[in-house]
Amino acid sequence: MNIEIVTIGDELLLGFTLDSNGAHIARELAAIGVSVSRRTSVGDDATAIADAVREALERTGAVITTGGLGPTSDDLTKPTIAAVFGRAMHMDEAIIEALRQRWVARGWGKELPEANKQQGLIPEGAVVLTNRHGSAPGIWLEDERGRWVVMLPGVPRELRGMFAEEVLPKLRERGGPGASPVVSSTIRTTGVSESALADSLKPLESRLEGLALAFLPGWAGVDLRLTSSGRAAGESAALLERAGAELRVVAGQFAYGAGTDDLAAVVLDQLRSGGMTIAVAESCTGGLLGGRITAIPGSSHFFLGGVIAYSNEVKATQLGVGDDTLIAHGAVSEETAREMATGVRARYRADVAVSITGIAGPDGGTDTKPVGTVCVAVDVRGTVTSSKRQMIGDREEVRLRSTQWALDLVRRQLTATR
Ligand code: ATP
Ligand code: MG
Repeated sequence: MNIEIVTIGDELLLGFTLDSNGAHIARELAAIGVSVSRRTSVGDDATAIADAVREALERTGAVITTGGLGPTSDDLTKPTIAAVFGRAMHMDEAIIEALRQRWVARGWGKELPEANKQQGLIPEGAVVLTNRHGSAPGIWLEDERGRWVVMLPGVPRELRGMFAEEVLPKLRERGGPGASPVVSSTIRTTGVSESALADSLKPLESRLEGLALAFLPGWAGVDLRLTSSGRAAGESAALLERAGAELRVVAGQFAYGAGTDDLAAVVLDQLRSGGMTIAVAESCTGGLLGGRITAIPGSSHFFLGGVIAYSNEVKATQLGVGDDTLIAHGAVSEETAREMATGVRARYRADVAVSITGIAGPDGGTDTKPVGTVCVAVDVRGTVTSSKRQMIGDREEVRLRSTQWALDLVRRQLTATR
């Protein structure tokens, strides 16, 4: 089975919205072995929608659309595609009643707005797909030759829920899924460049047995993604596992996790098994590190708190960084980072403390300390380690990379002292 995706909305063409719906559907279909042969985006324009859907139907006979199902005048998807199929629209009172009940239950008022009522208009002969995540129902429309279009809402949360609950089961019923799903696995690394990784993985490549290896760099590090296609699911799983284990060995200390693992969660796991607590002292990241740690469920058992020590005065008065240290080495120095970590650890009586101080830019750089200079320090029960690095990227990226690097230093120290 070959499917085309048509995503609808002016905001997609204007670039205000990235087509994450199209990406999500493509990934989900690949995972069940259905290939997507084309993705098209069109604006909220009846002619453009009709042309895109008609052409896609001619090529594949199987089309999934998202967007334009809402109650507003720019929502044209249903009547436009009904016209492509030569179907009239009729009012489905059950949909209106369900919308009314939802409206009242939410306390939004007694009367459903007139605008919502057009959401009850359904093409003749269509199957209505229940939307448990929002108001606009989805539509499955099929012609006498078995060619079909599925219309789903544009709101990503609704789209994902409906795709899983209403569309995937129907595709499975139709025997759509191929015998060879595309399966991937990811090893996450940090603190090593893409090229250095590529060099050390070179000898492995001949032994990947046809698995594709992708290097995906980002602020968190370089993800190594292995992909298997054209094989039975069981065979892929075994191959990926074997190759993944080998990659991990070669990536060594740089590998911190798999899949979508967050380094903050990895560090929290280490703290959990060591029965340790952590505190942070942040200058240039202004709370970003604490934010990442507290984003992980269960962090309250291990994370005590932190000081956002942005000014020198706060570094000195709240963390006990010595004036002489600040004068001799400056705020962005390993010496200051070390005193920040030691200071916050003592202050919060934590087992582990981590600090970050740096120049995120775009101004503030000097010849000796250019923008992107960052120092981090880790204090594990009195043993202090620090390091200085030159980060690349703009202000946002320097800040994100700094949190990742600080977490990585904690991870390495905890691994070493285990
Ligand atoms: P609604 O009932 O909310 O009007 P809809 O089906 O009409 O839903 P749209 O109005 O097209 O959908 O879009 C609703 C929201 O979903 C917008 O904020 C839009 O940015 C987002 N959205 C739409 N299409 C996509 C897409 N392809 N990828 C990611 N987000 C999208
Ligand atoms: Mg809309």
